[in-house]
Amino acid sequence: MADDKKLTTRAEDFSAWYNELVLKAELADYAPVRGCMVIRPNGYGIWERMQSALDAMFKETGHVNAYFPLFIPLSFLQKEAQHVEGFAPETAVVTHGGGKELEEPLVVRPTSETIIYSMFAKWVQSYRDLPVLMNQWANVVRWEMRTRLFLRTLEFLWQEGHTAHATHDEAEEEARKMLGVYRDFMEGWMAMPVVTGRKTESEKFAGALRTYCLEAMMQDNKALQAGTSHNLGQNFAKAFDLKFQSEAGTIEYAWNTSWGVSTRMIGGLVMTHSDDVGVQVPPLLAPIELMIVPIYRKDEERARVLEAADRIRRSLSDWERRAPNRLRVEIDRREGLTPGAKYFHWELRGIPLRLELGPRDLEKNQGILVRRDNREKRPVSLDMLGEEVEDLLELIQESMLIAARERRERHSVRKAISYADFRQLMEGEGAFVYAGWCGDPRCEAAVKEETKATIRCLPDEEFQSAVTPTTCLKCGAKSAEEALWARAY
Ligand SMILES: [Zn+2]
Repeated sequence: MADDKKLTTRAEDFSAWYNELVLKAELADYAPVRGCMVIRPNGYGIWERMQSALDAMFKETGHVNAYFPLFIPLSFLQKEAQHVEGFAPETAVVTHGGGKELEEPLVVRPTSETIIYSMFAKWVQSYRDLPVLMNQWANVVRWEMRTRLFLRTLEFLWQEGHTAHATHDEAEEEARKMLGVYRDFMEGWMAMPVVTGRKTESEKFAGALRTYCLEAMMQDNKALQAGTSHNLGQNFAKAFDLKFQSEAGTIEYAWNTSWGVSTRMIGGLVMTHSDDVGVQVPPLLAPIELMIVPIYRKDEERARVLEAADRIRRSLSDWERRAPNRLRVEIDRREGLTPGAKYFHWELRGIPLRLELGPRDLEKNQGILVRRDNREKRPVSLDMLGEEVEDLLELIQESMLIAARERRERHSVRKAISYADFRQLMEGEGAFVYAGWCGDPRCEAAVKEETKATIRCLPDEEFQSAVTPTTCLKCGAKSAEEALWARAY
């Protein structure tokens, strides 16, 4: 697709806007296999930055990385009854290898609980071997019927943390802690505010005791589940004989947790921040933070401007306030394109800042800095460029979070709402609706059937309404818990 064809706007068709944007900004492309995608360098650069930030956070909280095989014996999946029931419909199974039929079919991992806990069982004997705090960066395959770039594809990249503990409470603390790590990452790095809470029984992970999740509101007011953290109880430990000798000398089953986030977050990033001009990437995750666009007409000007651009790039890259990290600066040296075409190109791709640099600017020892988020322009002295760029990047990062949070709050409903109004709202512009739930799964199912909205989570205390809802959204009976209802991806 050419750059110059205008994007469909969000108001015209949000879904078409998203698909076009991902393709035109060259974040990803469709692969020859239906439902698979290629993550292109612009998208993969964001993923690499997500990975390195999260990886550091996992290590700070005591986790180590390991790698487990892609193939899982089919019998492993069958050992945990709920797990196999949840995942069987979407597994890819290898039946042949090296031209021969396999004795036991191999599942291409949809998630790795089974194979990882079978190995933990081999490694853990005593309470002294606990806790085990491990993470793996990997790809997984889930045979989805309806796919969307980044949001739902047959194969995707993720990390899955897997831990084993001596007690329920330690596992619970771990599951909650990692939910907090994800929240810090999503708000601090992605500038994407999230609501945290617990999934209902019908929405929890197959085989878990409790599932916690992070729900973000996209610009079409639908929810995106951006990550999950599970207290698995002893379900997998029992299935895989993951036992240890306790301090008191008894033999106990371990308690497990697992938690994961994936390349789906890139879809969330796009749908949270981007506009009708293009993608917006928060500075902390932008592979390039500042693009220098040299402006010139004559050859003599060209040499002078490019020489200055090189000098600026070098000095900004090594700028001491950023040490030991580097400011990520590039120069658009492409010939035969107008400056306007270059601006358009980088705005589409979401580079947070650009520096326009022409011969007249150089005479004044200045450049023009332009923000991607509000497109504000300002002349800046080249002597102060490092400070200005750094301050603006911080400001943009903060502004993006504030804007996203304000948008979410504008579309959150916390006052009593009739079921008829709720239904109309879900069919119309959508919202995050905080309302009561009697606790009956039949009400939950009926709402889903009638409105396509689900209970995204039973929100954590900090997200609950000041006035606790008293009646169930659906049946009007006494409310047992406050629930966050929305349509979701
Ligand atoms: Zn009810």
